[in-house]
Amino acid sequence: MSDRAPARPAAPRARTPILAVVLVVSATLVGCQSPAPSSAPSQPREVPTVAHLDPDLLGAVRRATSDAAADGVRLQVKSGWRSAEYQDRLLREAISEYGSAAEAARWVATAQTSRHVSGEAVDIGPTAAVAWLSEHGSVYGLCQVYDNEPWHYELRPDAIEDGCPARYADPTQDPRMQH
Ligand SMILES: [Zn+2]
Repeated sequence: MSDRAPARPAAPRARTPILAVVLVVSATLVGCQSPAPSSAPSQPREVPTVAHLDPDLLGAVRRATSDAAADGVRLQVKSGWRSAEYQDRLLREAISEYGSAAEAARWVATAQTSRHVSGEAVDIGPTAAVAWLSEHGSVYGLCQVYDNEPWHYELRPDAIEDGCPARYADPTQDPRMQH
């Protein structure tokens, strides 16, 4: 009997937080428009918000999230992939909120042009994380694209060597938004 360890009560299993949990957060900031609508439309699920992102973008965001955490900054994806239906709804709401399609276009893209629908954009929060990423993002190829949406990031692999390209004032200046 001496070779047996004394019986011990089973320790509760440690719950290891995984990075995905950090990334999949409640989407309080649902669109690229500001302020957020009072009745926030719900995404079908939160997991697809990151699951449908471009893998290279998601990898860059995860690396940045980890390094930001080491700096004491909690970086969250407030909005990532969106379905076309959800983007259409955001646009309808923006047109209603801003009063015209032209003004709404400064804040919300169509489902055909949105980089969120194609899985190529993330909206980052909170403010401290945006500040951290604006300083360090190019290391990961993560760049702000629009002056009026500092939280909106897209992957620019060349930025790792060359730095981020100049930003557009707003999406109406972005040639990709023309179609
Ligand atoms: Zn965005």
